[in-house]
Amino acid sequence: MAVRRQVLRAEVEELILQRLLESRWAPGSRLSIDGLARDLEVSPTPVREAMVSLERSGLVEYVALRGYVVAPMLDAAQMTELLDARKVVESAALARAFEDVGTLLADLEEAYAEHGDVIERIEAAGEVTYELLQEHFHADWRFHQVLFDHAGNRYLSTMVDTVRAHTHRMRQTWVGGPPALDIHEAYSEHGRILEKVRRHHHDGALQALVEHLDAVLERSTTLAEESAEGERGGSEEPAAQSVTV
Ligand SMILES: [Zn+2]
Repeated sequence: MAVRRQVLRAEVEELILQRLLESRWAPGSRLSIDGLARDLEVSPTPVREAMVSLERSGLVEYVALRGYVVAPMLDAAQMTELLDARKVVESAALARAFEDVGTLLADLEEAYAEHGDVIERIEAAGEVTYELLQEHFHADWRFHQVLFDHAGNRYLSTMVDTVRAHTHRMRQTWVGGPPALDIHEAYSEHGRILEKVRRHHHDGALQALVEHLDAVLERSTTLAEESAEGERGGSEEPAAQSVTV
């Protein structure tokens, strides 16, 4: 019974997350627990639990007297701060993971190969659907997660969980924009990190990691500026739910 409840909560959270990432609701929109529960045909309890979890990711905010509202998108300054935090914790994790570079390499190779499979399926599909984009995000994150799995520090892992939750907010912008270009760039940047690890070149891997995170920031802020201009123009269509390659 308890397991079923957990599964339901996770399913409800995933459904709400999908709507948030597809920009179905404008920032500031009120998210009624009862309304969402009716819409998703579940009781209010899993919706309330999902909201608590989504609040941690920064995608929704709790406002006194109003309840939950859709959080504004991250601006360029917040994205810069977030990527700076990622650089700090991921560089630290990489340095520690290098102490057993053999096992680190094996897992990075596996994560990179899985990411490659997703890229192939995106190419075969000819378009980036929401599901494929999510698979890409998961595969991309899995590669970074390997660094923490091998860093041997549970507190560092907890710190990255917070950062990870907030990267969801950057994806609000991504799903609204043309991320196809980034999919291939991110994958090849991971390839450059992996190549240095294969050669047991710690400083090179660190530099490739920092360059990857800098490039992610550069691409995200460009997209954020473009979507802000679109909003100011007022004539733009709402964010597309899928984009073509
Ligand atoms: Zn990445």
